[in-house]
Amino acid sequence: MSRYMSARFADLEAYVPGEQPQDMQYVKLNTNESPYPPAPAVLEAAGAAETARLNLYPDPEGRALRQKLAEMYGVEAENVFLANGSDELLSFAFMAFCDGERPVAFPAVSYGFYPVYAQLYQVPCTQIPLREGFVLDPRDFCGLGKNIVIANPNAPTGRAISVRDIEEILRSEPDHVVLIDEAYIDFGGESCVPLIKKYDNLLVCQTFSKFRSLAGGRLGYGLASKGLIDDLEKIRYSTNSYNIDRLTMAVGIATLESNEYYLENSKRIQEARAYTTEELSKLGFETIPSLANFIFTRCPNVDGGSLYRELKARGVLVRHWDRPEIGDWCRVTIGTREQMDVFLDKVREILKGAD
Ligand SMILES: *Cc1c(COP(=O)(O)O)cnc(C)c1O
Repeated sequence: MSRYMSARFADLEAYVPGEQPQDMQYVKLNTNESPYPPAPAVLEAAGAAETARLNLYPDPEGRALRQKLAEMYGVEAENVFLANGSDELLSFAFMAFCDGERPVAFPAVSYGFYPVYAQLYQVPCTQIPLREGFVLDPRDFCGLGKNIVIANPNAPTGRAISVRDIEEILRSEPDHVVLIDEAYIDFGGESCVPLIKKYDNLLVCQTFSKFRSLAGGRLGYGLASKGLIDDLEKIRYSTNSYNIDRLTMAVGIATLESNEYYLENSKRIQEARAYTTEELSKLGFETIPSLANFIFTRCPNVDGGSLYRELKARGVLVRHWDRPEIGDWCRVTIGTREQMDVFLDKVREILKGAD
């Protein structure tokens, strides 16, 4: 830190994203990207015609894309908020709704960005322990008198909770925002978006980065009551009113028009998830039941850190966290069936060496 930086950031520990090697030598199963490229229509949408208009600012209201999203979810455009990746939406939400009087609670094992935003905006945060097997008991999150943030399915465990559980939490916290991060909802989970009509304290965050093969495009969105969306807009217009660029806006619309293509990919990923889980279990691995495009798994004979390093040495990248509660585990993104076969072969090789 230089001597010019504000002292209030002296203790801030920035988020560390997963490795993004630029040589593409790896089977990349470490950051939950889709193994499938964007749909053909998306390539065209980002083509020369839209590039030729880059001298003009994009629509700051993102009307066309918000309208499309509203139609897809059966809500109004006023219930839709656009962000430069859902990380930006999370940042705006922490800024808008949390402070010393409105602290936040989230699971102790969850998305690593939540504690970073709490620290960045100097919001007291409570990390609620999960139960055995990383099970989230909704009763642990009811009536805390705090804003609540829950990823559903959770990251990095893949476990999902039911819409009924979410409704129980919403009802217990009418004076606080309940943010449900549905980054992975389209791999088999049940979305709570319909509840935004009933609960004005519910904010659902979604992203184009996983199910919609657009991690490099940086597009996320929120769905909520008009009141919460207006609050987020106030923050957005005070930060960066043109947060979605023209190419991404066009690409986002083409993506939604190609929904069948992405549903098909999701089906294949879910099949590869079941296959990988089954093969790992034959090798003695314990895997948390996942409704996401990744699995959280551990091997009785090889600790998580060693497995990560041994796989990396063999050209397969997975994610491991050096934290006591989850140090035994690795998170493995589900790629194509072919990628998962490479991963499984390398695992078998490593286990042979460990005997
Ligand atoms: C990937 C992820 C996000 C962020 O995705 P963006 O690429 O910023 O849209 C948000 N929440 C969770 C739980 C994630 O895993």
